[in-house]
Amino acid sequence: MTKHHLTEEQILAHATHSASAGLSLLVACHLTLCPDCRHRHELAVQVGFALAEEPRGPGADLLAATLAGLDAPLPSPTPRRHDPEGVLPAPLAALLPGTLRWRTVFPGVGELSLPVPFEGPLPPRLFRLRPGMRVPDHHHEGAELSLVLTGGFTDDGGHFVRGDVCARDDQQLHRQRIDPGEPCIVLVVADGALIPRTWLGWLAQQIHPM
Ligand SMILES: [Zn+2]
Repeated sequence: MTKHHLTEEQILAHATHSASAGLSLLVACHLTLCPDCRHRHELAVQVGFALAEEPRGPGADLLAATLAGLDAPLPSPTPRRHDPEGVLPAPLAALLPGTLRWRTVFPGVGELSLPVPFEGPLPPRLFRLRPGMRVPDHHHEGAELSLVLTGGFTDDGGHFVRGDVCARDDQQLHRQRIDPGEPCIVLVVADGALIPRTWLGWLAQQIHPM
C-alpha cells in the first residue's frame, strides 16, 4: 500500500498542465498506482474546470459539489500484487516499447534515460538497483523526485515500496539501502547531477558493504 504520496502542488501542476514533462510523467505513473492521489487529482481537475469556465470565480454549484467531494470516502486502496511482467505503469510503458537496455553506471546500478523533454543537465531516468546494496552517500545539485516501481529501499525518510514517492532537495545527504529480494527499479526526475560525498567512501562500501 502506498504510504508516500504526491504533494498538493505536484497534483495541481499536473492537473493544470503546468508541470514539466518529467514531473508530469512521474505524477501520471503514480496516479496509476495510487487511488488516494487519483481521487485528489480528479478534484483538482474539477476545480480547474470550474475556474476556467467562470473567469470571475468558480460556479457556485460546481464548487460546492467539488468541496463536498473532499469529504467523500476514498476508494479502497488496490492491494500490491507481484507482477514482474507488467512493472511499468502505462505512461512509462508507452515510452519504452521493447527490451529495457540498462547502462551500468556503478556496480549494481543500471541506468536508462527516458525520451522525455527536460531542462537542466539530466533527463528523467530509470534506475535499476541490486537487491541489498547500499547506494553511495550523495548530495544532489537540485531537487529530485523518485517513484519506486519494483522492490524497495530505506532512507532517512522511511521505507519506500512500489508506488511510493520520495522527494529530496539539494540540502540533504542522501543515504539509501536497497531492500533484499528483488531489484529496485525507480523512476527519477532530477534537475541536478548526483555528487558522491566521497569516492573513498564509495569504494569502501563496495569492499565492505554495510
Ligand atoms: Zn499517492
